[in-house]
Amino acid sequence: MAFESLSDKLQGVFKKLKGKGVLTEADINEAMREVKLALLEADVNFKVVKDFVSSVKEKSLGSDVLESLTPGQQVIKIVNDELVTLMGGANSKLTYSPRGFTIFLMVGLQGTGKTTTCGKLANYLKKNGKKPMLCACDIYRPAAIDQLEVVGKSVDVPVFTMRECREPEIIAEKAVKEAEMKGYDVLIVDTAGRLQIDEALMDELVRVKKAIKPHEILLVVDAMTGQDAVNAAAGFDEKLGIDGVIMTKLDGDARGGAALSVKQVTGKPIKFIGLGEKFDALEPFHPERMASRILG
Ligand code: GDP
Repeated sequence: MAFESLSDKLQGVFKKLKGKGVLTEADINEAMREVKLALLEADVNFKVVKDFVSSVKEKSLGSDVLESLTPGQQVIKIVNDELVTLMGGANSKLTYSPRGFTIFLMVGLQGTGKTTTCGKLANYLKKNGKKPMLCACDIYRPAAIDQLEVVGKSVDVPVFTMRECREPEIIAEKAVKEAEMKGYDVLIVDTAGRLQIDEALMDELVRVKKAIKPHEILLVVDAMTGQDAVNAAAGFDEKLGIDGVIMTKLDGDARGGAALSVKQVTGKPIKFIGLGEKFDALEPFHPERMASRILG
């Protein structure tokens, strides 16, 4: 699971702080140096680390902390609160259409887990009383359409396809009509992925976005790719505009740097995390819970 090593290191730093009855400025500086190293080792974005540490330091050096009866505890609370803010504050929920029919556009690079996540999200929505339909918009790889059909069967959700059509925006539009007509209330649109962000991919996604006006554009990124995931998020947001991130494979990511950087770097929250290959391995992302998990 993510953050193991970061968690161990931070807990080590805080154990030392808690052991002291009185904290001096030098103690705080030393602790912050260790926190900084631990965050950098966890592959958190450099600027994010710098801002984080200076903010914690500034708050910790106030006389209300240093002269309190439990200065160590106070510093830990400050770190906890700053971690929660770093990860986006409150839990960021999905936006549903007030009209009752909601469209989620799923985008991301190849191999990040996008198609699997479409299935996980459909499964999650079904468990929450929704009636989702999936739509396959990858016009380049017939295997991707087959894969989404298998995923749809596994979670018992219908999949809209138009194998002969070469225009994803038309496929998406038809899917919207079909889903509304058949009484579904959410359409999850899976799109083509590429190995990297390129003009053609972005143009295509922009066309789909214009055609169906999704209520959420969700970017799927792979936590194990660390800062590459953060850069992908910044790129997609700049060219397409995203509403949130679904971060997959946190179960296999020992460091957690992407999860701690993406909100600060892009301004867009993580809405869900993927914690395994199964269709129920998707959880809403709760910054407070994640912070408590890191600080133990
Ligand atoms: P796509 O190319 O982005 O559509 O990626 P796929 O959906 O085909 O997924 C690529 C691989 O990642 C598959 O083997 C998935 O089972 C795996 N995968 C997806 N999400 C997760 C996750 O949260 N944890 C783990 N461990 N594997 C995942």
